[in-house]
Amino acid sequence: MTALYRRTLAALAVVAVAGAVLGLIAGAAWGWALVAFGAGALLAYHVVHLARLARWLAQPLPGKVPEGRGSWDEVLTALHRYERAGAAREQQLADALRQLRRAAQAMPDGVVLLDAKNSIEWCNDQAAAMLELDPRADVGRPIANLVREPAFIDYLASHAEEGARPLRLAVAHGRVAAIQLIPYGEAQMLLLARDITQAERVETMRRDFVANVSHELRTPLTVLVGFLETVRELKLDPQRVRDYSGMMREQASRMHRIIEDLLALSVLESAPPPAAERVRIAPLLERLAADAGALSGGRHTISVRGRSHVDLLGAEPEIASAFGNLLSNAVRYTPAGGRVTLAWDDGPEGASFSVEDTGVGIAPEHLPRLTERFYRVDRSRSRETGGTGLGLAIVKHALARHQGQLEITSTPGSGSRFTARFPASRTLPLEAATSAAAE
Ligand code: ADP
Repeated sequence: MTALYRRTLAALAVVAVAGAVLGLIAGAAWGWALVAFGAGALLAYHVVHLARLARWLAQPLPGKVPEGRGSWDEVLTALHRYERAGAAREQQLADALRQLRRAAQAMPDGVVLLDAKNSIEWCNDQAAAMLELDPRADVGRPIANLVREPAFIDYLASHAEEGARPLRLAVAHGRVAAIQLIPYGEAQMLLLARDITQAERVETMRRDFVANVSHELRTPLTVLVGFLETVRELKLDPQRVRDYSGMMREQASRMHRIIEDLLALSVLESAPPPAAERVRIAPLLERLAADAGALSGGRHTISVRGRSHVDLLGAEPEIASAFGNLLSNAVRYTPAGGRVTLAWDDGPEGASFSVEDTGVGIAPEHLPRLTERFYRVDRSRSRETGGTGLGLAIVKHALARHQGQLEITSTPGSGSRFTARFPASRTLPLEAATSAAAE
């Protein structure tokens, strides 16, 4: 029996006894009057508390449970405790929900929660940007009205299939997303949108690269096999055999050069950051000019302009290979009688090495693609001069590893200038002995 019940019965009993006693002393009328008054007071007490409770229940504001007196105190205190526990539970749930949304917001992928009718319940900023949704205004709207691509509508309609493959969808700002619908709860859907633009680009580059390498190696190999067949099948005089062997050697060296360049590129791409050693510029420029002279065989005028007041900080083989590739290109793409100039410049903002030539030049539309692997403006000229189409890709990578950049300016028919620029952080003041000699 609850306290309220017990106390009410006890109060009634007290009123009845008091009424009976008064009835005996002062007459039955007085006795009944007391009983009626007592019962009325008890009823009023309960009605007042019930009314307060009903008022609160109509608008159950947290922390505003009415207070009670007597036996109602116990009831209302229990209700107050219950209400507080409920509010705490609600708060915990709200915190957990907020936490979950924050986690979904932090995800790099787009997330959209859809209800049973495929209307948006919530979406994170990434999904909003990719699918051009408004995270507030679009809540409650069917997603099919907002993302109207027919492929997406079909995918949405067939989403119930277990393990359905993600849908490739062109989304905002020229990007591509992989869309996946994952059922959860009663009949809700989780829509995940992953940006796969970069992954697709890398995959295309990988495919192109494999195709290019195969093609580049197949051409000399086909020629080589052709010569070998000829030498084997035909009775050739020794001079012809010598001629053919020379041509076969040429094709084999071409394949060798391509493989060497591919290996050099792969080392540049995967090696740890370059050594931070002093790369002495003055002797390097001298050596490069001598190498260019040897490659030119006296057909060009080679000169050096500018003097170094700093050295570079980095890996000498990589710097020398980058500069050497620029020089060898200048010699190879400049007709006999032309000029090739090596220039060095340094100052507070950094240092630069450039190679200028008076050669064939490059049309502007080719400039942005020159550092792509196997990209050539004139395929036959590149081959004739022993090019692999990988030289400038090697230059770009070697410079990037030293925070350097390649700038190209060119005028078709008049010549080109390739400049490697390094930030001041990559320069070192000359050592005392060298700087005294440089003065
Ligand atoms: P390649 O081995 O074919 O020379 P590179 O990567 O070194 O390959 O150069 C890419 C292309 O850029 C060359 O095929 C050529 O068309 C062009 N190129 C590079 N350097 C010069 C230059 N100094 N003058 C004119 N064209 C150049």
